[in-house]
Order: sequence, then structure tokens, then C-alpha cells
Amino acid sequence: MDLGIRGRRALVTAASKGLGRGCAAALAEAGVDLVINARGAEALAATAADLRARYSVAVTAVAGDITDAGARSEVLAAAGPADILVTNAGGPPPGLWSDWTRDDFIRALDGNMLTPIALMQAMLPGMIARGWGRVVNITSQSVKAPIPQLGLSNAARAGLTGFVGGTARQVAPHGVTINNLLPGIHATDRAVSLDGPVAKAQGITLEQAAAQRAAGIPARRYGTVEEFGAMCAFLCSRHAGYIVGQNILLDGGAMNSTL
Ligand code: NAP
Repeated sequence: MDLGIRGRRALVTAASKGLGRGCAAALAEAGVDLVINARGAEALAATAADLRARYSVAVTAVAGDITDAGARSEVLAAAGPADILVTNAGGPPPGLWSDWTRDDFIRALDGNMLTPIALMQAMLPGMIARGWGRVVNITSQSVKAPIPQLGLSNAARAGLTGFVGGTARQVAPHGVTINNLLPGIHATDRAVSLDGPVAKAQGITLEQAAAQRAAGIPARRYGTVEEFGAMCAFLCSRHAGYIVGQNILLDGGAMNSTL
């Protein structure tokens, strides 16, 4: 399918690896020029070079912590009048509800709520003025079904989801859509960081911990970054203009619900 976005320009944050990279790659495949970001300059430059070589699109790499206001300004300056924004940042660490301090919550809110909101506040006015725009926020299945040990994620992402629910309806009259993509477990470094503690606690290997987790998912496997990226690119496409303010779960059927 021609996604109808060839020649458009996108900013994808936290995109050197994992789900962000999957989104960037799928947009590049659709002919979209990119500005990508991550903290580690080396991996980011390697991803940019790979995407340029494979898809012949322009890719600008801006290294920096997207939760830092100064770095965010640099990223936004490089993005300029982009038509597409995919927000992403690392997830908060697992832990126990009783242990988290105010500082832990502030860090989680910064990463997974206030940063995507700041990016949207910066880029939505230009999209509205031009009469076309697409925003996809990478959130988590934890928005629909809380994950006990990821309470910081449950809390921060719920806040972002509320903001999007209201804002998406305010920008839709201008041809701008905002939607959230909710990953269940996907085969990335983040999955390894979640399976590691399980393996350690149970005295099993990382592979056994992953197999155990996959056994509880109807699809019996982890999602791939390619599958995730394809859905992201579709939401950014010309065809997705009537999808507004939705929370789309990509979890292999893990959450047991009818609707
Ligand atoms: P990942 O494989 O660990 O990749 C994270 C990417 O984000 C890397 O490119 C990393 O590069 C970059 N990054 C992290 N923090 C950043 C920051 N503050 N500023 C700029 N770049 C940053 O993670 P993932 O699996 O793709 O997960 C992406 C998001 O989806 C996370 O919020 C995660 O919690 C959420 N999620 C993932 C899963 C899953 O199963 N994978 C499930 C549910 C939710 P640098 O480290 O170099 O900055």
C-alpha cells in the first residue's frame, strides 16, 4: 500500500534502537525524511546511516536526552516544520509501589508524560497552520491493564493518555490526528531489562524467562519492531485521517478483554 506520505518530514524521538527505530524505519520505507534522536551518539549515527543507505531518504541525527529542555530545543530546531511526530523515551525502572519517592515520580512524569506533551505543544501549532499533521505517542499496554511492578509507567502514561484524549479532539478539525500506540511485550533491549530480574529471581536463563512470558500470550511470542513500525507508519499515513484519539494495543492478545 502506498502510504501517501512520500516527501513528508518526521521527527522520531528515542529512535536509535527498539520500537522508536522500528517506527523510523517504516516511515523511511514510506519515503519520509527523518530527524531522529537518542542519547547515545554512536548508535544513533549508525541507525541514521543504515536508514539513509536502505531507503534513500534524508536522515538528520540529533543526540541528546529528550527529557532535557535544552536538548529538546535542539531536536525541535532540527525538525523544523515537520508533518509527523512520533514521541518516545525510555521506560521507568520496575520496582515496588511502596518504595518510589517524589523524585522517582518526577523522573517518570518527565520521561513519559511531560516530554511528549512538550513536543506536541511545540509542533502542533505548525501542523494546524499547515492543515495536516500526524502524531503518534508510544505508550504502553500498562495504560489499559496496569503492570504491578511498573507503577511509575502506569501512572505517568495514564496522565499522557488523558492529555491526548482531550487534545486530539481539539486539533482534529485542522487535519491533525493524535493517537497512542500501546506496546505489549516486544523483542527489544527493554524486554531484556524486564526479563533479566525475572530470570535472576527464579534462577533460570534469560531465554527461559522469555519463553515463560511468551507462553502466557495468545500469539505465543514477543512482538517485532517491524510489526510495531508498520502500524506506526499506517497511523501517520494519508489513509489514517479519520483515526482520532485512539489507544491501539499491540500485544499479541495478552490483555483478555472483549472490547
Ligand atoms: P529500547 O529498546 O530500550 O530503546 C529505547 C530507545 O530510546 C533507544 O534508542 C534509547 O537510546 C532511546 N532513549 C531512551 N531514553 C532516552 C532519552 N531520555 N532521550 C532520548 N532517547 C532515549 O526500548 P523499547 O523497547 O523500544 O521501548 C520504547 C518505549 O516503549 C519505552 O518507553 C518502553 O517502556 C515502552 N514499552 C516497551 C515495551 C517492550 O516490550 N519493548 C512494552 C511496553 C512499553 P539511548 O539509550 O542511547 O538514549
